[in-house]
Amino acid sequence: MRGILVATRLILVVMAGILAVVLGRRLTGPTADPGVGMVIESYGGAVDLDSMRAARLRILRHVAGPDSYLPAMLVEGDSMLRRWPERTGDPLRVHILPGNVAGYSPDLRDASRAAFVRWERVGAIPVRFDFVNDSAAADVIVRWVERFPLRRAGQADIRWNGTGWIVSGTLTLATHTSDGFRLERDAVYTVAMHEIGHLLGLGHSDDAQDVMFPTTAVHDITPRDRHTARLLYGVPPGSLRLGVLDR
Ligand SMILES: [Zn+2]
Repeated sequence: MRGILVATRLILVVMAGILAVVLGRRLTGPTADPGVGMVIESYGGAVDLDSMRAARLRILRHVAGPDSYLPAMLVEGDSMLRRWPERTGDPLRVHILPGNVAGYSPDLRDASRAAFVRWERVGAIPVRFDFVNDSAAADVIVRWVERFPLRRAGQADIRWNGTGWIVSGTLTLATHTSDGFRLERDAVYTVAMHEIGHLLGLGHSDDAQDVMFPTTAVHDITPRDRHTARLLYGVPPGSLRLGVLDR
């Protein structure tokens, strides 16, 4: 048991070290306090999965700092970072399908388009968008449904390769809530902002003030959204598993 404990801590220290090397410079800047090992040692007592996860979250938060939800994102998800390659010179081709469902109107199309433009302008990431008429040539398809059976108003589906590079995506936006209320332009814009965040590789924020909070109600990208996106696009994609913690 003691051997396992020591081995576990060793793995933590090594993985935290790697994480700090991979993310540290960009995440914490030149004045970073290199006290990751200290944080690891602060959990003593019983070794169970919950305390390990708590320790892991503390490590990630320590490395990432308070102005990003990358740690929450990694803990909630499968520890994989996924993102598009740099697409400034060769913008992502977005095809917005015409909506032929009840409640659709061209201003909803405009709202979805405006959300892409907003991410491009203030997202601070090396991804640009081109709106194309040819769906076959598109990297991203936007489609419309009348409503989702579950309590949601939008969905982002992405495909990625073995390394974690996103290769294509589909955004599905509803014209009504699951309860049947029509979604107006502003609501569709807000939903599209959130789903485009997922399309770009972002997970959920743990702060209700961010666009990427699961039940988002804010209408614009916050500094935390922007900072988290910038961090994501500052490192290569791939797994950030911390050894035994993610089994
Ligand atoms: Zn979401």
